[in-house]
Amino acid sequence: MLDLSRASRRALREKRTVAVMVRMYCRAKHGTKKHLCEHCRRLVEYANKRVDKCPFIERKPTCAKCTVHCFEKSKREEIRHVMRHSGPRMLLRHPLLAIFHAADGRRKAAPAAHRSHSR
Ligand SMILES: [Zn+2]
Repeated sequence: MLDLSRASRRALREKRTVAVMVRMYCRAKHGTKKHLCEHCRRLVEYANKRVDKCPFIERKPTCAKCTVHCFEKSKREEIRHVMRHSGPRMLLRHPLLAIFHAADGRRKAAPAAHRSHSR
């Protein structure tokens, strides 16, 4: 639980970002208030599972931009819709998360084992 390695911090942030973005999206598009609709709840669950299994989590771009494409196609499309909607809004409501997210998005996917030219 207290393993705050770089990878696990990154995974937590990724999950939090997805959760925040889907919540904004669901509220705006599906009219939900406190809880996500069933569909969006599943989408978040799915994304979390992918993040947990991601071998690139330490240094990868955000899931929507990742070149590995571990999301099945339809889910990937959904996440991109969500991000297109929530990305700009997140900058206002969660500026720190948005900044990290933008920085993460510029990374190239590379397996942790092959980080020869890392910082
Ligand atoms: Zn929804």
